[in-house]
Amino acid sequence: MKKITSVCPYCGAGCKLKLVVEKNKIIRAEAADGVTNQNELCLKGYYGWDFLNDTKLLTPRLTQPMIRYEKGGKLQPVSWDEAISYTAKRLKAIKEQHGPRSIMTTGSSRGTGNETNYVMQKFARGVLHTNNVDCCARVCHGPSVAGLQVTLGNGAMSNSIGDIEHSKCLLVFGYNCADSHPIVARRVIKAKENGAKIIVCDPRRIETARIADQHLQLKNGCNMALVNAFGYVLLEENLYDKEYVAKYTDGLDAYREVVKGYAPEDVEHLTGVPAHMVRQAMRTFAAAPSATIMWGMGVTQFGQAVDVVKGLSSLALLTGNLGRENVGVGPVRGQNNVQGACDMGVLPNQFPGYQDVVDPEVRAKFAKAWGINVDDMDDKVGVRITEVPHMAIEGEMKAYYIMGEDPLQTEADLGLVRKGFEALDFVVVQDIFMTKTAEVADVILPATSWGEHGGVFTCADRGFQRFEKAIDAKYNVKRDWEIISLLATEMGYPMHYDNNQQIWDELRELCPLFYGVTYEKMGEMGHVQWPCPTLDHSGTPYLYKDSKFDTPNGKGQLFAAEWRAPAEVPDADYPLVLCTVREVGHYSCRSMTGNCAALQTLADEPGFVQINPTDAELLNIKDKQLVWVSSRRGKVISRAEVNERINLGSVYMTYQWWIGACNELTQDNLDPISKTPETKYCAVNISQIADQ
Ligand code: SF4
Repeated sequence: MKKITSVCPYCGAGCKLKLVVEKNKIIRAEAADGVTNQNELCLKGYYGWDFLNDTKLLTPRLTQPMIRYEKGGKLQPVSWDEAISYTAKRLKAIKEQHGPRSIMTTGSSRGTGNETNYVMQKFARGVLHTNNVDCCARVCHGPSVAGLQVTLGNGAMSNSIGDIEHSKCLLVFGYNCADSHPIVARRVIKAKENGAKIIVCDPRRIETARIADQHLQLKNGCNMALVNAFGYVLLEENLYDKEYVAKYTDGLDAYREVVKGYAPEDVEHLTGVPAHMVRQAMRTFAAAPSATIMWGMGVTQFGQAVDVVKGLSSLALLTGNLGRENVGVGPVRGQNNVQGACDMGVLPNQFPGYQDVVDPEVRAKFAKAWGINVDDMDDKVGVRITEVPHMAIEGEMKAYYIMGEDPLQTEADLGLVRKGFEALDFVVVQDIFMTKTAEVADVILPATSWGEHGGVFTCADRGFQRFEKAIDAKYNVKRDWEIISLLATEMGYPMHYDNNQQIWDELRELCPLFYGVTYEKMGEMGHVQWPCPTLDHSGTPYLYKDSKFDTPNGKGQLFAAEWRAPAEVPDADYPLVLCTVREVGHYSCRSMTGNCAALQTLADEPGFVQINPTDAELLNIKDKQLVWVSSRRGKVISRAEVNERINLGSVYMTYQWWIGACNELTQDNLDPISKTPETKYCAVNISQIADQ
């Protein structure tokens, strides 16, 4: 029996754990003393490894390469040589006929690791010659990256997960940490025990609201109005830090001009929050010696998400809550390595280390390092994954190489996404399970899973951590970066790596932010937070020391925007608001947790729709009853969960897969800057199954 040190493959909390292995089989997981988790795990950490035993509870493991030679034909098992040569031939032909920008690629924010993401974006930029590379950050915290890069300079948490419990005020906005990051939720509870004031802004009475000093139960879809009202109170009541604002920020006059129309009393009808509560919240926030703002997808999955992120960071700037310990802004990233995928440049606008693709000097640096002609590199920002369906339907996108993502389950408006896939000439899926997307692929490239390989992840607070291989893969699968390297070589760009560290050292050399993060420094239990620019640097627990911001003029940028209504509001036919949410026992589309026996036992149904008792009574819906949920785009079955924590007029669903996923219902109103869909808001109706 041996114990292998790893990092949990689920959420961005970055919990370290030990996998106990006997005869090439994992038999249990134990908590390890990681920097973020301190010997604690949630149930996904303890029981979320079982999918490696190929339980076939939900979806079968991909065990060999397969090709569907003709549209409508069957997937046939093939050798690796055939799979690589066929894929390379098809991609080359499409590139020659339609140009490099007709091919889309994705990195993966899950168990594959940073090294693979680096190699994937190198393949896109260096071999296909396109910046069309993106990841699921686009559908979750893309707005946090885009917003914070403008107002503060870096699109990441400014503080550390460990800092949260020492902050004296937590403003928790659209973030249900008890379900999405249970180990971060523990820090919130500890902060409360340490005397912090907790202010929760959420339409539902989430777990954190139960321990909050104030719960502002705002109406769905009015985040910008409430954030502006907060700004109004800070200015009108002179609660802001005038000296700090004068010294370290820009844009106060323009900010004041916008928020002056958002007196809490004047927007009460919009926000649904009594004005005195808004005022009290800001008095508490501004009076705290240290305050932290945390947010989740309740902020980012809206058509006006980037504006709200900028507005939230402005609240921190107005009160001087940046650039020191125990304060800051915390967009708590969802998937375990979504921060890492962004760090590694699987973004259409940035190379690894957040270096802009439109900067000629940066392009020249990468071209030289990769041994390619700089004129072959794409000098324009690439396509986002949420734009692919539209472009495919219009004939502008021809091929899609998807690694470790399942857009046919996880993207908004699945009817539209399916039409996009039908219009594509060639779909390659590199994954570990037969996901919904894998089912329609022309080529399947089966990869090793977390547990079967090692590497480096970045957790939500910018901390790089190593995870190790625990068992040998049983099937005819290959490491993700090895598959990409074989494809690159077959397409005429020789690419070979012996191990993860070789890749890591190559990317370190190209990224000043990460240069000092060596394998040795990370060691077995280390957690090294970027920026870490030199070999003798120990990492950066909080950003913007002494309030020096990484913006062009070094100042924090204040920002407010007029509130915009969501794209689709309820009416007589569809009277309720649907908001998509997470569940604590499963992760995302459940492709991994759904194949873990213990987790399936704890939450064995494919999902639920939560509804307030008053709405349920009006619609004659009983608790636990099967219901139809319908929107203008589709109709799915779910089970009603009548729950008084739910606000009137709204219902909440997980990804689920009864008959149809919740994304059959959602719509793709995209934020104009980040192109993130508004999956937190669309109009639906609910009816008893018997009525249909
Ligand atoms: Fe930690 Fe998140 Fe894994 Fe739970 S799911 S053990 S909180 S990393």
